[in-house]
Amino acid sequence: MAVPKRKTSKARRDKRRSSTWKLTLPGMTKCPKCGEYVLSHRVCKKCGVYHGKEVLAVEE
Ligand SMILES: [Zn+2]
Repeated sequence: MAVPKRKTSKARRDKRRSSTWKLTLPGMTKCPKCGEYVLSHRVCKKCGVYHGKEVLAVEE
């Protein structure tokens, strides 16, 4: 049976249990224009902007 070589420190254990790392999903960034969370390398659904340009017509 494989046995852990080192005791897991309190800091390491508590970091694992904390859910802070789940707050922002990987690949999620904030839109520079509207501040909405968007998937990186995707057009922002809210304002239709990608890489500083409006590429989608958005109905208000
Ligand atoms: Zn946006």
